Amino acid sequence: MQHSATFCFHKSLTDFLSPSLKHAAISYKFNGAPAIKDAIEAIGIPHTEVHIIVVNNCQVGFDYSLTDNDEVQVFPFEASREVLKNMLLQKPAQVKFILDVHLGKLAKSLRMLGLDAMYKTNLSDKTIAEIAALEDRIVLTRDVGLLKHRAISYGYWLRSQNSEEQLSEVIKRYNLASEIKPFTKCIACNGDIIQVSKEAVLESLPAKTKEYFNEFFQCKNCKRVYWKGSHYERMIEFIKQLKLP
Ligand SMILES: [Zn+2]
Repeated sequence: MQHSATFCFHKSLTDFLSPSLKHAAISYKFNGAPAIKDAIEAIGIPHTEVHIIVVNNCQVGFDYSLTDNDEVQVFPFEASREVLKNMLLQKPAQVKFILDVHLGKLAKSLRMLGLDAMYKTNLSDKTIAEIAALEDRIVLTRDVGLLKHRAISYGYWLRSQNSEEQLSEVIKRYNLASEIKPFTKCIACNGDIIQVSKEAVLESLPAKTKEYFNEFFQCKNCKRVYWKGSHYERMIEFIKQLKLP
């Protein structure tokens, strides 16, 4: 199936475009998932002229795979920092989330993918805003009003009410496909998970698990033990059906 993406080239990069395309958004048709570098060169701009590429408000590298409906902005070396600041998505250096109450399913899914997702059912809007500010966390919410809170620097309003669609929204918005590391975050408490020896957790294991499994992980915070049993299979299935690029 043929896809299309919109490209905007800035400043001196338009030197390579024909006069009719210089000030227009260029609709680029493609098949599959080509590297963005190839698409840029196919349009006529040599990659050596390109300094910064922004896709859907996030900065990407030359190896980024183009997907359907992407909105691409391409900047040359002389693009001013100020322009870029306005173009780039507001996100902290390290992507960490705090979720509004009622988003428990999304929190579990994010943790399953190894993403830092703080979630508690009893937090007030004020507390969420304070924690977000203190820990540089991105607020995820269905409440537009919460995002207007003065203390919040980073936030995203979830469009869907379905937790799986919400997960896809968040992954796309923050370009997280390459940051997914299953078995690194505790699904129960968001603590860090580390690999541990069988001996270290032997006492807490069900008899069948003791018998059939040898690889174990444990949450540093709540001490919950994980192994690659049926839960792991479900997780792998879950990640597969997300159809990440
Ligand atoms: Zn835990």
